Amino acid sequence: MKITRVETFAVPPRWLFCRVETDEGVVGWGEPVVEGRAATVRTAVHELAELLVGRDPLRIEDHWQVMTKGSFYRGGPVLSSAVAGLDQALWDIAGKALGVPIHVLLGGPVRERVRAYSWIGGDEPADIADAVRAQVEAGFTAVKMNACGRMNRMATAADVADVVERATAAREALGPERDFALDFHGRFSVANARRVLPHLAPLHPLFVEEPVLPEYAHRLDEVVAASPVPIATGERLYSRTDALPALEAGVAVLQPDLSHAGGISEVRRLASLAETFDVLIAPHCPLGPVSLAASLQVAFSTPNFLIQEQSIGIHYNRGAEVLDYVVDPDVFRFDEGHLRRPLGPGLGIEVDEREVRRADGSAPDWHNPVWRHPDGSFAEW
Ligand SMILES: [Mg+2]
Repeated sequence: MKITRVETFAVPPRWLFCRVETDEGVVGWGEPVVEGRAATVRTAVHELAELLVGRDPLRIEDHWQVMTKGSFYRGGPVLSSAVAGLDQALWDIAGKALGVPIHVLLGGPVRERVRAYSWIGGDEPADIADAVRAQVEAGFTAVKMNACGRMNRMATAADVADVVERATAAREALGPERDFALDFHGRFSVANARRVLPHLAPLHPLFVEEPVLPEYAHRLDEVVAASPVPIATGERLYSRTDALPALEAGVAVLQPDLSHAGGISEVRRLASLAETFDVLIAPHCPLGPVSLAASLQVAFSTPNFLIQEQSIGIHYNRGAEVLDYVVDPDVFRFDEGHLRRPLGPGLGIEVDEREVRRADGSAPDWHNPVWRHPDGSFAEW
């Protein structure tokens, strides 16, 4: 079998799909995208595709080595995401060629269902209790929300009270049996994180995510030491070497993204690395159906898995939803807040190719907003 062609499709709301075709008619799909950089990653995918066309798609590891190490300048979100999507497509081809789901190739299922959480609120959450109750009614056992909106570099007493108030609203609406997680989007300084996180301990969040930016990994151990609440990070870490300092700092949860961190091949290894630190993985996935399908293949075959993010109904999904691009949306049907084991070959989804081709090119040019502090200076989004 030989790879004959690699195509990409930019589709609403802000996703990029790749389609890898072979001379035997087996086709694999991937989702190589950085949110807000779809066009840049698309170019990278086509540059990397030159390494694949004419070659055997089943030599996944060799292709991964060449794609990640074959050029002198390596790593980072754009290249790692381009590799990730192509890696997903190669695994999809392998599963389809052999007639088994990818998680079977990874050692078989280690659980019967995968717990997922839903997002509530937007970038600046309000009406938390109502949003939580809606997710509980839909059967979810866990939710995640932004912990704060635009945040002062040094939090005021009111800022601290506001974070605690939001978390309290979530806990009261959830009761003690369900979980919530708080995403800080790196909006806190190290000092702020040390001051605020202990106040959240009585509310027992499942974890707090990116309390500080990933570039401050060399100070993450101070945050961990100050926080009785488990710390999660990883959506902006793209490889084992990127993740190692966070693991050494003592985070509790690693959140690699199947579409950013080198695909199924590298996330599988990231999980294994995390396991040696007694760390659980909670794959980041605010993206589309191919990324979610790839996440599930890892979730079902990884022992140290905690919970899966998914973007159905997320505030970013304007103009299209996760289920719009799959022939049978039942593969992503939630049962008591859990996803079932996909039994189809490869990624376990059938991409609606007609819909993808129709939508190609109509994706809005999504970028995250640039926030400013009241004095006009840049603020972390
Ligand atoms: Mg996050």
